[in-house]
Amino acid sequence: MIVAAKIIWCVGVIAWFVIRYPHARRSKRTPARRVENRGLELVLLSISATGLGVIPAVYAGTGMPAFADYPLQAWQVVVGGLTFLASLVLFRRTHAALGRNWSVTLEVREKHALVTDGIYRYVRHPMYTAFWLWAIAQAFLLPNWIAGFSGIVGFGTLYLFRVPREEQMMLDAFGSEYAEYAKRTGRVFPKLR
Ligand code: SAH
Repeated sequence: MIVAAKIIWCVGVIAWFVIRYPHARRSKRTPARRVENRGLELVLLSISATGLGVIPAVYAGTGMPAFADYPLQAWQVVVGGLTFLASLVLFRRTHAALGRNWSVTLEVREKHALVTDGIYRYVRHPMYTAFWLWAIAQAFLLPNWIAGFSGIVGFGTLYLFRVPREEQMMLDAFGSEYAEYAKRTGRVFPKLR
């Protein structure tokens, strides 16, 4: 069963790369008007990638660190698999909605459009919601206290240090349009009215 859980995790990560690939290519060709502190951005991306990718990949491949293992329950695999699936569906929708406005580090594009419809109508960081779901899926799928939870710690670090800077950047770029938008939306969950 643990092999099945590790395979589901691997397939999820590969599917994530497949979804992102065309957007990453287009993003390289899209000129930027403003780039936020790239050094800090790269540190945060590395921390997130270590928690969501490197540590769980080492665990999936080698079983290390074995001292942190605990017994896997079947329900965890089901919940983890479904959560990963939900994450990928959401991830794909956010990429489709953001289009050429997306960038892996914080940037404002030339001719940047503020997206406020589709999935962005209710939530202003739905792509980060998708990443939280990935991190939660990882915690269910990998029965290891370190490799399971490293995604939550890694992505959580990026989230905490990025979101306030991203919102400030968007406020500088879009002014009251973004302020109004932020008022009627939630960060990762839709706002209950
Ligand atoms: N925080 C968003 C987007 C993540 S990608 C989410 O979680 O869905 C980060 C880039 O998206 C930033 O560089 C910013 O320029 C851009 N961005 C964020 N919100 C946006 C929006 N509502 N419309 C257009 N671009 C946006």
